[in-house]
Amino acid sequence: MTADTTADWMSLPAAQQPAWSNPDSLHEVLSSLRSSPPLVYAAECDQLRDRLAAVARGEAFLLQAGDCAETFDGVSADQIDTKLRTILQMAAVLTYAASVPVVKVGRMAGQYAKPRSSDLETRDGVTLPSYRGDAVNGPAFEAATRVPDPHRLTRMYHASATTLNLVRAFTTGGYADLRRVHAWNRDFLALSPVGRRYEDLARQIDSALAFMRSCGTLPREIQTVEFYASHEALLLDYETALTRVDSRSGNLYDVSAHMVWIGERTRQLDGAHVEFAARIRNPIGVKLGPTSTADDALALIDRLDPDRRPGRLTFITRMGAEKIRDVLPNLVEKVTASGARVVWVSDPMHGNTYKSESGYKTRQFSSILDEIRGFFEVHRHLGTHPGGIHVELTGDDVTECVGGAHEIGDADLQQRYETACDPRLNRSQSLELAFVIAEMYGN
Ligand code: PEP
Ligand code: MN
Repeated sequence: MTADTTADWMSLPAAQQPAWSNPDSLHEVLSSLRSSPPLVYAAECDQLRDRLAAVARGEAFLLQAGDCAETFDGVSADQIDTKLRTILQMAAVLTYAASVPVVKVGRMAGQYAKPRSSDLETRDGVTLPSYRGDAVNGPAFEAATRVPDPHRLTRMYHASATTLNLVRAFTTGGYADLRRVHAWNRDFLALSPVGRRYEDLARQIDSALAFMRSCGTLPREIQTVEFYASHEALLLDYETALTRVDSRSGNLYDVSAHMVWIGERTRQLDGAHVEFAARIRNPIGVKLGPTSTADDALALIDRLDPDRRPGRLTFITRMGAEKIRDVLPNLVEKVTASGARVVWVSDPMHGNTYKSESGYKTRQFSSILDEIRGFFEVHRHLGTHPGGIHVELTGDDVTECVGGAHEIGDADLQQRYETACDPRLNRSQSLELAFVIAEMYGN
């Protein structure tokens, strides 16, 4: 950054920042990150903004998905591959059902920091700092592991780079050809208890692909995939160190990801996160929980999208299935009346979390579906575009959310509960979700 672009947002109050253990190490780590290569290019961020502008106009759909909290241990070819496959399989179904391009954005390659509702966690009378994501400390409930360690920021950078490298290879190397992705969906349906219900839809996709093949047209878009990386811009030390002046335009970009979002706990208008987001040119998301008012949304638009550029701002609503139909209409109406063109996306996960009887943090598959249904209903009623979904998932067969075709029950949660933070949809639940949304489009 140059003198006229000093990181003055750092002087504002910033919620959810770790109490780093060693200021000297922090200084060293940040100085090294400042001179490290960018993970993404500004031009790619602009391209994503163009794609999101199409979503804002109602001409595309956004699928934003991935872990609640990526882990350094999770940076393995297998885990990245199955997660990416799952997202691409969902996208294939949604593209056909919605009859518009699906913009694919991972909660991947940088989702290593977590906001927490409490700074401290107590177990059996012992109190330690809460786990704040692998970028900050470790999940094990041990005093030494829970100390926020700035060296973890360097690991976050390398884990992001490694993940992004594999994602780029996977999506452009021919492996993600739509015909292959559809064949994976066929395999899924053959094994799923709900497979028969979606047989018609799968057959229609077969026919569409056969038709394209017989026309001799195989657009480049079928053989490669555009895939973007996103995460919550939570740790301002890290995000600031990766913020650079774009030599083409002189504007600032956060080159740690194509898109970053501000969480429900850090969207204070006078806080550092909003100021930081206002100053960078990346597409920005903001989570809006059930207490959000229309005035909050309008003030965020004024701060983050003063030029009203479609694609710049995405509102990710996470109201909870019971509240979405009451709270969302007023927000959408007032924002639409203001003339702003934002992207509206449903996060059906974070408003539907509860502690099960067996003690696990979980989510009901049926509540997740219900929130998405409510989101579609509200937009259809108002004549606005239900622009996309934002979900927490993994490609593995974990047991973290209850329900779905395999009817995971409370007693099953202990079998494979592996998340470092919030409960994720497993592979089968994720694919089922895509097919259920496809049904909402009347297929
Ligand atoms: C999250 O996306 O993991 C998260 C913490 O969400 P929110 O800010 O909406 O609570
Ligand atoms: Mn989460």
